Amino acid sequence: MSRPIKSIADVVAMQLCTGCGVCAYVEPKRFRMADTMDHGRRPFLLDKAIMESGEALAVCPGAQLEHPASMRARDDILPELLDAWGPVLAVWEGYAADPEIRFSGSSGGAATALALYGIEREGMAGALHVGARHDVPYLNETVYSKDRTDLLDRTGSRYAPASPCDGLDRIEAAKEKSVFIGKPCDAAAVMSARKLRPELDEKLGLVIAFFCAGVPSTKGTLDLLRAHGVDDPATVKELRYRGKGWPGMWTAEFLNREGKQEIQQLSYADSWGFLQQYRQWRCYICPDHTGEFADIAVGDPWYRKVQDGELGKSLIVARTRRGLDVIRAASAAGYLTLEDSSPDLLPRSQPGLMETRGALWARLWVLRMFAAGVPRYSGFPMFKLWIENLDSTAKLKSIIGTVKRVFTKRLRIAIILKKLPGEQGE
Ligand SMILES: Cc1cc2nc3c(=O)[nH]c(=O)nc-3n(C[C@H](O)[C@H](O)[C@H](O)COP(=O)(O)OP(=O)(O)OC[C@H]3O[C@@H](n4cnc5c(N)ncnc54)[C@H](O)[C@@H]3O)c2cc1C
Ligand code: SF4
Ligand code: SF4
Repeated sequence: MSRPIKSIADVVAMQLCTGCGVCAYVEPKRFRMADTMDHGRRPFLLDKAIMESGEALAVCPGAQLEHPASMRARDDILPELLDAWGPVLAVWEGYAADPEIRFSGSSGGAATALALYGIEREGMAGALHVGARHDVPYLNETVYSKDRTDLLDRTGSRYAPASPCDGLDRIEAAKEKSVFIGKPCDAAAVMSARKLRPELDEKLGLVIAFFCAGVPSTKGTLDLLRAHGVDDPATVKELRYRGKGWPGMWTAEFLNREGKQEIQQLSYADSWGFLQQYRQWRCYICPDHTGEFADIAVGDPWYRKVQDGELGKSLIVARTRRGLDVIRAASAAGYLTLEDSSPDLLPRSQPGLMETRGALWARLWVLRMFAAGVPRYSGFPMFKLWIENLDSTAKLKSIIGTVKRVFTKRLRIAIILKKLPGEQGE
């Protein structure tokens, strides 16, 4: 029997918050997003006297995610991918045609190339997404990029908390339509918010999501920095997690104890191997790691070993008619280079995400048994994937592992958030 989720405070207390920030967009007088050390970016109350309207909870992806029943009747999507990967119209391997974007990008720079196409060729005003804070480079901020220079500066995945939906008012206020780029839960929040706010709906030109196995906390980044000689995070001048090569290196530029500039680097495998232990709880029970609610989803074509020095490639998934049209138009206009197209590129590239999705049914079942918080998911087949895609050992692990986590992650106790110094709000 899971506990009822009655408010945004419940979502946060039960560790179901993804950190998307859409509650702060929908109810800005009540909530403001702020960085916490252990959990990610979270909504803090600005004014207790203002009652929660219920609108934020209605669009919160931490509380619920829903594919409409009508999705299954669509005749434009690939039926063989629907259960495990959501709506897919077509899948390509490709990359940004602009060599600088391709090099800087996390994978093949497809997300940035598509955003640039939207701005330069479809007259969009800009793109709402995420970049490193210049004053505190180990934290992220929501940014609105208006041209190639801005976009290029914000390339590369940041394996750290970010809440791009707290800036949706910038899309609403823009003179023309805008692009949105974010994680799958961010894209889902945008899709729910656009149903609530016609002014936003009208200004959304394109929603891009990237594949996501989970977001590590700020503590993860600070512990990794410390393990590599950065005792004082205030000395960090620049921090990248990926990109500038494929997959690129985790790179920290900082002033060492002697006050001299020093660079520490780690491979993608080593840095993610460390950081993934710090993922927020909601990511362990995420039903959508591949951007099922976006127009276009992008990820890594990991179906083969990447050779040393190989130029970046992206997996590009059209999820709506609008997404399909943009991919084709961006390719025809010379922004995107498309290579192979085949539906099986998706399952072959992301076996890890398939396994995580397969474990979901048992994880949610255990949480209900222990009266921990469980989001409401609808339109995501779960039991079938658990039965068909996990062997007996993985099935057992999905149950025992979750029982353990109920206690180690204190999932039955309301959490207390600690804001990072300098953050405002109650
Ligand atoms: C937390 C996280 C988990 C990931 N897990 C997977 C995975 O399991 N499988 C996989 O294939 N790929 C994963 N990726 C990588 C992602 O798939 C690639 O970045 C994607 O292929 C986009 O590459 P690109 O070259 O097109 O992006 P780019 O052109 O480099 O653009 C990246 C965009 O992502 C935005 N961004 C960066 N960090 C964040 C963030 N934390 N929150 C919101 N927006 C952000 C930037 O603002 C930029 O617009 C993950 C990335 C992140 C940040
Ligand atoms: S998931 Fe998003 S909307 Fe829900 S509480 Fe967290 S930040 Fe707010
Ligand atoms: S794993 Fe899911 S919930 Fe976690 S950040 Fe990624 S998309 Fe959001």
